Amino acid sequence: MAIFTNREKESKMNGNIPCCLCGKSEISLLSERDRHGKPLTTVICTGCGLVRHHPLPTPEEVRQYYEKDYRLDYKKTLAPKPRHIYRAGLVAAQRVKAMNAWLSEARHVLDIGAGGGELCYMMQGANRQVTGIEPNRGYALHAKEKLGINMVVGDYQTSPLAPSSFDLITMFHVLEHILEPSKILLQARDWLRPEGHLIVEVPNVEALCGSPKNRFHFAHIYNFNLATLESLGQRAGFFVRNRYVANDGGIIRVVFQKTSKLSELAPDLGSNAKGIESLLQNHTPLRHLFSHYPYLRLWRKILRGFDEWTTVRSTANGETLLGSIKQQLEQTERFLNRPMSVIRSELSPTRQ
Ligand SMILES: [Zn+2]
Repeated sequence: MAIFTNREKESKMNGNIPCCLCGKSEISLLSERDRHGKPLTTVICTGCGLVRHHPLPTPEEVRQYYEKDYRLDYKKTLAPKPRHIYRAGLVAAQRVKAMNAWLSEARHVLDIGAGGGELCYMMQGANRQVTGIEPNRGYALHAKEKLGINMVVGDYQTSPLAPSSFDLITMFHVLEHILEPSKILLQARDWLRPEGHLIVEVPNVEALCGSPKNRFHFAHIYNFNLATLESLGQRAGFFVRNRYVANDGGIIRVVFQKTSKLSELAPDLGSNAKGIESLLQNHTPLRHLFSHYPYLRLWRKILRGFDEWTTVRSTANGETLLGSIKQQLEQTERFLNRPMSVIRSELSPTRQ
């Protein structure tokens, strides 16, 4: 993977730019390696705790990466395979359940960074129109042609959508990839009707469930905790309606509501930066090894791998799998709480 590598070699921690959240320019070094051991300089803004690459990539580098390389880096494919569709379908169903309070009221929904369209597919209903935006052509066309999703192929800056046209906008694991996070939030606000909702989920930079060695990733230009995520949303003209931290601390999700005006106030988050720095310093590889997390993660991965292998082997059509998950989701809200073996037997036509 080539992106950003040359720029990292030039990185010298000087010539810094003002933080996009607090406006201050003082930074502190957090890491010089990415999760694959390759050079990647990650810094924290000492003014607010926003964590980011240093230097930031250029817009052209980011654009090229997402058009061509990103899905290959992550999943080694340019269009989703049945295994990916099945996994994404189960995740999408969980997200639909988690968003129910806001989704049930929404008639026009936009999913930014829609990938293969699985979440759009799960959210679509008789009284609800769903649109997706996805820069990766292969994934976007898959969603359009195989799942019949109304997809905009491109990025948020070039999408021809009308202002005030959505009740709800979702951004799952998107904001950390965006070069100008404030800008995408402002754009989302523009697309939302007055008092519309924006749901943003990102990895938690304070998560202790993953190995410290895996914390930083080339594709994650920014890394957030609840304070920086909420603050960024507030500055872009939202207030916080709801917040969620996963049981293992791995992800954070905030439900924002559009307000009538933008906030002029710079956040006071100096202590947040210190808190993140000391938390990450104390989370050493050895300490992680002595926690239960690596073993729990491995066990879950084995279970998931076995489930995917057996399900996809018996029902190798991604769209059929997705249709079955949605049917189950609609039939019972408690679907996802049932054991995986039961769900699997119901998904597979040969086992009925
Ligand atoms: Zn800052």
